[in-house]
Amino acid sequence: MDHNKLKLIVKLQLLDDELDEILSEQQGLPEEIHDLETDVVSITKQLEIRKTQEEENLKLKEKLFHEIAQANSKIEKFKDSQTTARNNKEYDALSKQIEYEEQEIKKAEAQIRTIEENKERQAEQEERGRKLMDENRYDELTDDMMPTDVLDSQLVDVKQELDGKKQELKEIIEETQDEVKLIEEKITKQRSVVQDQAKPILDKYDHLRNGGVQNAIVKLHRHACSGCNTYVPTNRHAFILQGGFYSCETCGRIVVHERLFEEALTVEA
Ligand SMILES: [Zn+2]
Repeated sequence: MDHNKLKLIVKLQLLDDELDEILSEQQGLPEEIHDLETDVVSITKQLEIRKTQEEENLKLKEKLFHEIAQANSKIEKFKDSQTTARNNKEYDALSKQIEYEEQEIKKAEAQIRTIEENKERQAEQEERGRKLMDENRYDELTDDMMPTDVLDSQLVDVKQELDGKKQELKEIIEETQDEVKLIEEKITKQRSVVQDQAKPILDKYDHLRNGGVQNAIVKLHRHACSGCNTYVPTNRHAFILQGGFYSCETCGRIVVHERLFEEALTVEA
């Protein structure tokens, strides 16, 4: 590959570096915002589950109390009827109905007890959670142990932090958007030039960048790849010096002579 073509991709690297540099001013804010948003969703969900559970329990308890009241009034009526029963058969039949209603009351009462026991168990868990938090033993804390009021205030805090970070990011984006736009245009233009003239090396470059290697093109420095410091075989030096490139056997980066970086600066974008 002739070194003029190589210069084009070095130019692309320089432009991409410039863009990376500007975007680095965002200092990981997009990732932080993403994490905080995940936290908001998870805390909100936990709180919703608890609220729904509580509402359902309340509704069920109301229904059960109502059933008990109804059964009691039936029993009263049956007892009244017993006083005017005409014979034993009629009296016994009413007794059976009373027994049935009494069983229903017991069942409903047992259900109410279960609901209350579950609530107590949850309260105990939350008490345990508070104790663990007081002792800084956060790693032992499970979701169930988080007291609802702590979750509530956590949600407020996380939302506040999220808003702050979003505002911070918004300001950075606003400050840099013109610059970013300009460089992005230059990159698009440069990419199409490289695409036309040196597609194989562009593919290699993209492959490295997509794999997370930002500095895909590096200088030969002290006979080594300056990306990973692996020594470049002597028999390749002359080729690099003449304007060729070497694919580092260790890190895969494209190693070129440093003068290409200087020359690339003067390439018209
Ligand atoms: Zn290397």
